[in-house]
Order: sequence, then C-alpha cells, then structure tokens
Amino acid sequence: MNDIKLICGKLYDGIHDELREHQEILIRDKRILEVGKHTAQPAGCQVIDLSGLTVTPGMIDAHVHASFFDWREIPKDTVWYSDGMRALAAAECARRALSGGFTTIRHVGWFREDYSLDVRRAIDRGFIQGARMVVAPHFLCAPGSHGDPSQSVASNPALSGFLERQYPTMGSGPEFFRDAVRHEVKLGADFIKIMATGGFFTPNDSPEDKQLSDDEMAAIIDTAHSLHRTVTAHAYTGELITTLAELGIDGIEHASLADKKTIRLLEEKDIYVVPTLCPYDEIVLLDEEKLAEKSPEFQRKLRYYRDQLVESRRLLIDSDLRLGYGTDLVVNYQNYECGREYSAWLRNGISPYRALKAATAENARILGLENEIGTIEPGKLADVAAWRRNILKDDKALLDCAFVMKEGVEYTPVSMLEAYR
Ligand SMILES: [Zn+2]
Repeated sequence: MNDIKLICGKLYDGIHDELREHQEILIRDKRILEVGKHTAQPAGCQVIDLSGLTVTPGMIDAHVHASFFDWREIPKDTVWYSDGMRALAAAECARRALSGGFTTIRHVGWFREDYSLDVRRAIDRGFIQGARMVVAPHFLCAPGSHGDPSQSVASNPALSGFLERQYPTMGSGPEFFRDAVRHEVKLGADFIKIMATGGFFTPNDSPEDKQLSDDEMAAIIDTAHSLHRTVTAHAYTGELITTLAELGIDGIEHASLADKKTIRLLEEKDIYVVPTLCPYDEIVLLDEEKLAEKSPEFQRKLRYYRDQLVESRRLLIDSDLRLGYGTDLVVNYQNYECGREYSAWLRNGISPYRALKAATAENARILGLENEIGTIEPGKLADVAAWRRNILKDDKALLDCAFVMKEGVEYTPVSMLEAYR
C-alpha cells in the first residue's frame, strides 16, 4: 500500500463553487481515500505540502487534436509527415498536456491516420507518460468536406484522389457510414466524431455548408448508440444543429453561429456544447496581431462572420447549456497549451467557477468518466493539479501548473508560460 497526503492551501473540488481552506487529501495507491480538515495519518504516509497553492482536480480538455508537433507546420502535414510521425506527436502532446496539469485529453481525430489509439494504449499501460486519452481516431466525413485532408491539394486531382482513398472513414451514403462506425468501434474508438459542416480553417468550404445528409447522420448516430458510443459533431449553424439534435446527437463542438431557438432546444434535450472559444477569440476581440498570423482565406471567413460569431458567443455564455471545456488549438497556439481556453472564458466574462466546473466535473460527464475523474472526493482516481496563481482572478492561472498527479503518481509540472515559447 502506498499512502500520500496532500496538504492544500486552497481546494476547489469540482463540486462546490468555493475555495476551501485547510483541506487535506489522503490518497491510497491510485484513488482518493479521504478529503477533509484532518484526515487519517497511516504509518509511512508520504506528506506533500501544497499549502502555498490552489489544488483542483486534474484538468480535462475535451477538444484536442493531438497528432501534430507545431501548428505552423499543419499546412505541410498532408504530404510531409508519415502516420508514425503523427503518432509520436500525439504522444508528445499528451506528455506536455499532463505536465501542464491536464490529466485527461479528448482527442477528437485528425485529418490523417495517426495511430492515436495506440498512443492511448501505450499511456494506459504505462509504457510512456502522458495525459489519459479519450479517443475518436478518425473523423466521419464526406469527400471535399472540412474533414477531407485532400481538400488542400484538390488542384492536383491524382494526388488528391490518392489521399482520399487513404482515409478509412471518408465516404458517402448511410451504408458506408454504418460500416465506418462499426469499424471505428472495433478498432477501439471511445466515441464517434463527425464533420457535419464546413469550417473556417479549410480553404474550399464554408461554415454554412451542410456536408452530410440527414440519412447519413441518422445512420451514424443510430449505429453508434446501438454500440453504446456517444457522437459529437463539428457544427456551426442553428439549422444543422437543430437537425442533429432531433436525430439524437449527444454533443456539439463549436456551435459558433447558433441562434437563440437552437440553444433553447439543446438546453431542453440536455445536449452538451464544447464552444472552443480560443480559435475565434482573435476575431471576436479583434486582436489584429493574432489575426495577421492566419491565412488570408481564413481571415476573410472570420471577418465575414464576425457579427454572428459575437452574437452567438453571447447567447452561448448567457444560456443554461451544459458547456464543456475544449481548446481546439490548431492555429496560433500549440495543442498542449490546454490552459489557453481558461483565459478565453475569463476574458469573455464567464464566471471562473463555471469554467472550472466545465474543465473538471462537466467534462468528466461528457467523456463518460464521471465515476472516475473530475472531482476530488473519496473513491475517485487521484488526478490532482495545483496552481501558483489566483485561479478566480488570473486568466493565465491554468497555464502555470505547479503540481500534477495522475492516478496517485506525481509528474514533473511545467509552466506553459515559461516552457516551449
Ligand atoms: Zn476541432
């Protein structure tokens, strides 16, 4: 038996909207045994003094694309990098995310094969160190869609056609997608991710394009549910989100152009939204310096939709929606800088407790891991992080990790504000 006691300065437990003082956490092996002012002190118990820090559950990022090394190289990904290189990148992303206090990341697929399920397995088995991964290995998408990696080389039909055939879950028709879901589940997918609409980042489509038909989306959702997997969709507009909600989707990523009526429907049906504020923050807050780093086409789309992005963001923030915390960092920041989204939430006026709950208890529920992680209470896995800064006031607090533990094992913390810059 291995007992560890953490002495907390302040404690946010993922349950109560408060920072409790003078709390201790007693951990036995990989789980939390006791939480309180005076916990038991078993013989041989190791005591770790975190009294100068704010302790929280290990954070969870629900929207990570783990399988690239550097966002500046993404345009080269389609032709330069092998599948093995992407797997290495996913492992490195998980390692760095963990060192930053994010003990779990949900990998929502990549444009190419990346062996993310193998990375997940290697971490779970303890062969390599990294944040726990919850994985959808491939997007389910149509040719020419936001999920189609050959879009960027469409002016070369031979190359683009070749690349199209390398991606196992891209195709057309309900039968194709039923089969694709079954194969994803067979390989070990934790959940299913669909690209239902165009994007801002891809060159040849629009965020308003509907890229899967109703019968294709219905086939995906029904098959996934019959195999006990949840489905989340990359989707922007109210019209498409309404269709997905009526078809029984579990969650929506982005929802950045949603209207009031759609948001009410999502509230009624208890469908979660991971709003991923980070990638749109530059246009909403008009940060011209950051905007200038994006491609001209990307900038044009963002500027065209700015008013709607601002309006929908306000509606999402003012709603009673179940909001999850996810970064979606593929431009401007590295994918393991998971604390960036906290800055965005606080800068946009969201209460720190709503943001903290989203990144802990709510995300645990979204990932289907609410019995294991997301709160500091007896019986849960000992996933714990601690932070130097005032987490209620400082929007950079979750970029400055001072202590991290996953399943009772302590790892070396790294401040994202100092490292990798
Ligand atoms: Zn994404």
